[in-house]
Amino acid sequence: MGSDKYMRKGGMVKSMEAGDADMAAINAIALEPLDKGDVYTFEVVACDNDIDRDFERFDEKALGQLAELFVGKTVIKDHSPRADNQFARVYAAEVEDADGETSDGLPLKQLVVKCYTLDNEANSQVIAEIKGGIKKEVSVSFMPESVTCSICGIDRRKAWCEHRWGKEYDGEACHFTLSDISDAYELSFVAIPAQRGAGTKKEYLLDGEEPSGPAEAKTEEKAAGAPEGAHSISRAKALAAAFLATIER
Ligand SMILES: [Zn+2]
Repeated sequence: MGSDKYMRKGGMVKSMEAGDADMAAINAIALEPLDKGDVYTFEVVACDNDIDRDFERFDEKALGQLAELFVGKTVIKDHSPRADNQFARVYAAEVEDADGETSDGLPLKQLVVKCYTLDNEANSQVIAEIKGGIKKEVSVSFMPESVTCSICGIDRRKAWCEHRWGKEYDGEACHFTLSDISDAYELSFVAIPAQRGAGTKKEYLLDGEEPSGPAEAKTEEKAAGAPEGAHSISRAKALAAAFLATIER
């Protein structure tokens, strides 16, 4: 199955004002010089290093890898792979210190991705939907080359262990750390609000292994930009974990 060779995670969107540095980064990508009035910019808190409701987390290295990989990637309006679905492009991304700490006491870090699109008639509908808080959740798709068990330290991309997402072992809930990100495909607006809070929907299985664990319902989604079979991951079934968003204008 080609649809389970990558993963998705959710994030949140808000409008932002483009400064001179933003315009320089945008114009490094654009073929024709653009002015501030030509573009609409928004930023996405794509993910962080906290343990999420899927009992997974990125480590800080993974966030940095995602920041590098996402620059230049497209933003699509929904999961449909149609060419006219491309809406915006990522022009900058960085890992920022956030207030607070993770649930296990690490300093909280966020991957903040900045995107631009042309502020024109063709995009006016989507821009209005972002400003109005209708389009406010996104998912990111990416390829983790390591998925490490918090209980035993085994990399589930390479070997099997008996531990399950969210199950407690000696009082410690098992989670998995996603790292060694080899590719990032696109940001997409999540079109189906029912996905919010849907909980754990993910399994990592080696070939021949039977699915089990905390996930009941499973959703497999194909990232529009994710190449079929481009990587050697055995299986990673994913669902967008959506976050609430704040629209600032
Ligand atoms: Zn384990």
